[in-house]
Amino acid sequence: PEGNGGLRVKVAIIGTGYVGLVTGVGLASVGHSVTCLDMRESVVESLTAGIPPIFEQGLEELLAQLLESGSISFSLPDVDRLAEADIIMIAVGTPSRDGDIDLSQIRSAAELAGRAVAAADHPIAVVVKSTVVPGTTKGLVLDTIAASGADRESFGIGMNPEFLREGSALVDFNSPDRIVIGFEDDLARDRLRELYADFSCPKLEVNTQTAELTKYANNLYLALQISAANEIANVAARVGGIDPLDVVEGVLSDHRWSGGDGVAGAHPIAKYLIPGPGFGGSCFPKDVEAFREFGLTLELPMQMSSAILEVNGAQPGFSLDSMTEGLPPLDGKRVLVLGLSFKPQTDDVRETPALGMIRALRAAGATTLAHDPLAMDAYARIDGGEVEFVVDWRATVATVDAVLVVTPWADYRGIGDLLSGDQVLLDPRRSVDPAGLAAGVVYRSIGVKK
Ligand code: NAD
Repeated sequence: PEGNGGLRVKVAIIGTGYVGLVTGVGLASVGHSVTCLDMRESVVESLTAGIPPIFEQGLEELLAQLLESGSISFSLPDVDRLAEADIIMIAVGTPSRDGDIDLSQIRSAAELAGRAVAAADHPIAVVVKSTVVPGTTKGLVLDTIAASGADRESFGIGMNPEFLREGSALVDFNSPDRIVIGFEDDLARDRLRELYADFSCPKLEVNTQTAELTKYANNLYLALQISAANEIANVAARVGGIDPLDVVEGVLSDHRWSGGDGVAGAHPIAKYLIPGPGFGGSCFPKDVEAFREFGLTLELPMQMSSAILEVNGAQPGFSLDSMTEGLPPLDGKRVLVLGLSFKPQTDDVRETPALGMIRALRAAGATTLAHDPLAMDAYARIDGGEVEFVVDWRATVATVDAVLVVTPWADYRGIGDLLSGDQVLLDPRRSVDPAGLAAGVVYRSIGVKK
């Protein structure tokens, strides 16, 4: 950030551990006025004296300057001080309790924030910075603040996850890859926009449970990649004569991790990593399985590879269940399945998720009709069931209750224009923009309803 072109916001942070302190110092250094509160007296005393309880490159020097200029201060929990803030950020710990998240610090911080909101003479946005499970902010936190007697109009509710890495926390704070602005109302959104006005990175504005899940998803992807790299390295070590880093380099040059050309889907952002009915084809399933079996012969446990296969095997059924949840039963319905190959531009149906989805439709009592620009013959050979193929899929659309787009062939992108009445479109891989659909048409993707 370059100086404070934005408004000077009065920020109070509850919890001055790693995240609270770095956030406080970072926000003060871009020109906001910050008060950090913590219940540990020793922490407050040492910070007031300019001594950070944690080591982080550059932190002590910056803290000294900010204390000198009066842009940051530290105190024990104090309702009157909190009530002066425009934003209260909650940055307390969310440790594990036998694996489950322990939200007791969040609850007590929200009670404190609630008392401040009730006492304040102006609206305050309460924003969760701690990592919390989806639903916590608009559930536990909102309810706890409302229970203080504060009127819903007098406070905002937001969630702004933190992605900093210990060891380079200040640098990460000043040049984040993105800022996620989660909000439940205009107040929280506007205060967070002001707070980060000087940051030029992408800013994602979403609801609070999306912000909460984004933090876990980010760590899950990182953990998944580390585990995959580790399982690969274990195999390399047993085989001998392979430097696992050479292998990683060969993998990272694959542009599919960073966007790619969109072969697997039409979505402008998530080109490769679009959720869907699972991967198929002649390579991923066979190769992950062979890699797992090979590792097992080397007496390695290979849990990563097993888990990948398990998740993928269940995904056609899971994705169908999730898309049809709450809809009238499929029993007796006619469903047109568009796309049978495992991805567009091929007639390869090996391990195609279409098979699992069509079997699940049939098991639910639906009559299935199917079309693919190239793969109908090949599909007929792998599916022993009674799928009825159609040549003119456009003409067939009017005769069915629902359409399921399994493979996002470009031909099917216009499907939205052919639907009417209360027909259902099941679109696991986001081939269609639901905004363009006729009123009445029911749109379902995984986790998306219209
Ligand atoms: P921490 O345990 O170091 O600090 C939490 C602080 O909150 C403690 O100093 C504690 O005394 C204080 N506190 C607890 N309840 C309080 C209350 N009611 N009033 C005032 N102070 C109170 O935790 P942390 O490492 O800073 O992490 C905070 C959150 O941020 C966690 O949810 C964590 O998962 C998340 N996070 C951490 C990192 C990291 O690298 N450490 C990175 C991203 C996100």
